[in-house]
Amino acid sequence: MLTKDLAICLRTVDYSETSQIVTLFTKSNGKIDAIAKGSKRPKSAFDGPLEVFSFGRIIFSDSNKEKLVTLTEFEQQPTFTRFCNDLFVLNCASFATELLTHLTNEHDPHPDLFESFLQFLQNLQDTKDNSEVLALLILFQLTLLNEAGLKPILNACVNCKTNFNTNWLQVYFSSSANGLICRDCEHAFPDRIKLTKPIINTLADLKKIADTDENTLFGIEKVLIHHFTETLGRRPKLAKYIIKN
Ligand SMILES: [Zn+2]
Repeated sequence: MLTKDLAICLRTVDYSETSQIVTLFTKSNGKIDAIAKGSKRPKSAFDGPLEVFSFGRIIFSDSNKEKLVTLTEFEQQPTFTRFCNDLFVLNCASFATELLTHLTNEHDPHPDLFESFLQFLQNLQDTKDNSEVLALLILFQLTLLNEAGLKPILNACVNCKTNFNTNWLQVYFSSSANGLICRDCEHAFPDRIKLTKPIINTLADLKKIADTDENTLFGIEKVLIHHFTETLGRRPKLAKYIIKN
């Protein structure tokens, strides 16, 4: 059976002189592994070799219900050019791709997440500075957690359910509790990390993220990387290109 879909390429591996095996995030079929026979030939049905972030309409055949589907067409849209000339933008896009790959399952469709990822890659093309890039990355990561069923609680103490307000003298984040912890409950959560005022003010009201300074955004990203490390059971490989420690 031939299936039409939209896809963003997450990973490519050379299979032979002329073919590639690719991991695609599709809109209607979720993440799939596919073989693209002849994709590296000068003339093919793939508009040239596939690369990470290649995006466009695809046709694939999965008649054998094998794990690896056969890609028969990839009508590539113009590439995201910004990734070639801005290393931080490329690193953030690659990091988001790594997280997406680990937090989604094969053949498990997430059409809204597909749209968010595509929009994230498109928005990165127009960013003016690192703050804007980081803000987009943070918002995408929160969307990803949400879609993976892991939405953190950022407006109340997870333990006693007291709503957060800006008068709280100390606020913590616990990865095991998946959200904020207040001062009265902090002793029960040994993995808690303390959040600074600017970090919690932005996390509790994400509309403020566009006006948040770069330092605070890096602070939020550090909390998220800690959280993804705990969630995945290991530090994401590309985290070192976002936050140096
Ligand atoms: Zn509490």
